[in-house]
Amino acid sequence: MVELKLSTRKRTEFIDITRQVQQAVTESGVQSGICVVYVPHTTAACTINEHADPDVARDIIGKLAELAPEEANYRHIEGNADAHIKAALCGTSEMVIIEDGKLQLGTWQGIFFCEFDGPRSRRVWVKIVPGRGG
Ligand code: ZN
Repeated sequence: MVELKLSTRKRTEFIDITRQVQQAVTESGVQSGICVVYVPHTTAACTINEHADPDVARDIIGKLAELAPEEANYRHIEGNADAHIKAALCGTSEMVIIEDGKLQLGTWQGIFFCEFDGPRSRRVWVKIVPGRGG
């Protein structure tokens, strides 16, 4: 397993980690298999979406803020209930196919780490599972 370390700078931000994940795949030497990206946090997440236009991530962040405003009638007393909800909506892991040593992402797709309760030091676990053939 490879651990990526991130330092987030804002309370809410999406960080494109595609390059670091591909680097982990390259260094593994695996040509064909599966790459699992896992976020071991409850107020952060990961998602795959368009990374060509940064406005897409901004729009997702904006809509999540509407769905789960920072201040609302939450029961969780820690004051970050919105961050837990946003993390639940985005999800904890992504799985990407590896072929020819490359992450098989669509033309516009990138892998984002989603911070919802930063700034913090964060970790992302990347597990590369070799497959048969290829
Ligand atoms: Zn909390």
